[in-house]
Amino acid sequence: MNHPVNPALGRGVDTDSGMVSGEVAVNKATLYVVATPIGNLGDITLRALEVLKAADIIAAEDTRVTIRLLNRHGIAGRLVAVHEHNERRAAERVTALLAEGKTVALVSDAGTPGIADPGAQVVAAVRAAGYPVVPIPGPNAAAAVLSASGFEASRFLFCGFLPARAAERRRELAGLVAQTALLVFYEAPHRVVGSVADLCAAFDGARQILIARELTKIHETLHRCRLDEAVAWLEADDNHRRGEFVLVVEGAAATASSPPEVDVESVLKTLLAELPVKQAVALAVKLTGGNRNALYKLALTLKDEK
Ligand code: SAM
Repeated sequence: MNHPVNPALGRGVDTDSGMVSGEVAVNKATLYVVATPIGNLGDITLRALEVLKAADIIAAEDTRVTIRLLNRHGIAGRLVAVHEHNERRAAERVTALLAEGKTVALVSDAGTPGIADPGAQVVAAVRAAGYPVVPIPGPNAAAAVLSASGFEASRFLFCGFLPARAAERRRELAGLVAQTALLVFYEAPHRVVGSVADLCAAFDGARQILIARELTKIHETLHRCRLDEAVAWLEADDNHRRGEFVLVVEGAAATASSPPEVDVESVLKTLLAELPVKQAVALAVKLTGGNRNALYKLALTLKDEK
């Protein structure tokens, strides 16, 4: 096997497979976006550790969290903070460091930066300034759950966190009723029961849901059931509602006779412009195949907005 060094990557390349192998060397004036563990500190790649070791600066969402990870792996890094509230300023700072020829590693508290996490603004600014951005792949809560879900996950829609306000949440869910791809949500413990109840009200209760909590941690739980059984499961034991959650919900049944995906909200808006609420909802149910209660709630929200 031939392992020439690819100067762009600084690593050996297996010319037969196209895979890179061997020593990790970082490049100057480059931003590395590094995935870190979502619980178990052992879940970090060899390459991620090498990049964190070699980087001049580690830009971290919360420096205290990242220091724990670095200590665990015996890495002494120079850290700067990049969190939600200072991301624009942090983006300028990272770009200035790259202009000095520094190597910067970007990490979030857990998982892959930029996915329901800060990082996207920094990456956008760095790309706009013309510096290379290199992903160092690793843990991601959504991908971890999908891999162990047993759902056929060739098509999924990552929805991130649902809105905190119930009316907005129901509205967003009504817009997803006809979506046939798997739906993936992140959720916090204090909202999980409310969100799952709204999922059940919006979608057919016979759909399957996978509730995953505390992935890679001591109390890791993956529970799959019908959507209309999910709230009861959450309420059966206080522990079922503790920790960090990923929810995966089956999409609308995709059969040859299924209607094409429709924009439920615009259908309802059009009908409401001409008809009283009850009639508009009844027609919207027929046209979209959506859940009557969810469409009724959405109709009331739309009317209030008017
Ligand atoms: N960037 C991260 C990723 O790549 O998955 C996500 C960060 S987001 C701020 C945090 C949310 O991700 C949590 O509220 C939860 O929904 C999900 N999450 C992160 N770690 C998790 C874990 N160990 N178990 C279950 N869900 C987790």
